[in-house]
Amino acid sequence: MAKPSFIFDESIPHDILASVKRICRRFLWIVPAWVEVVYVKFEMQPDHSGQIATTTTTRAYRNSVVRVCPLFVADNEEGRRAHIVHEFLHIPTAPTVDCANRIIRDVIKDDSFKKHALDTIAELYEGAVCDLARSIVEFDERMRGSE
Ligand SMILES: [Zn+2]
Repeated sequence: MAKPSFIFDESIPHDILASVKRICRRFLWIVPAWVEVVYVKFEMQPDHSGQIATTTTTRAYRNSVVRVCPLFVADNEEGRRAHIVHEFLHIPTAPTVDCANRIIRDVIKDDSFKKHALDTIAELYEGAVCDLARSIVEFDERMRGSE
């Protein structure tokens, strides 16, 4: 299988483009081989305030879209590295959590229990991604220190 490729959108602010490309290429190994293209875009108006970046993966079309927001742009290289690792970890894990969410929506009829199940999955999933991202960033920092 070919490695996934990146398409960096023209919307990404020019002064961080080199940094974004460098970080994405460094952590390409997190992206599974079934992804053909990772689109990286800039989102001027995030869905909610405080949002730094977001990722949508469509396994059927073998692609992911990573959207970086103004808070991402304002961060330094170290912060951007942590955010990209976090977003990339959403890619290999997306099919599993999407499946769990679909089953919950299809099987659970009681709306309040359905909401509770979806909220619980979302919280545990996000926490797991945060933990993995922290471990990977710390490991990467140790490796860069020994280069
Ligand atoms: Zn996340």
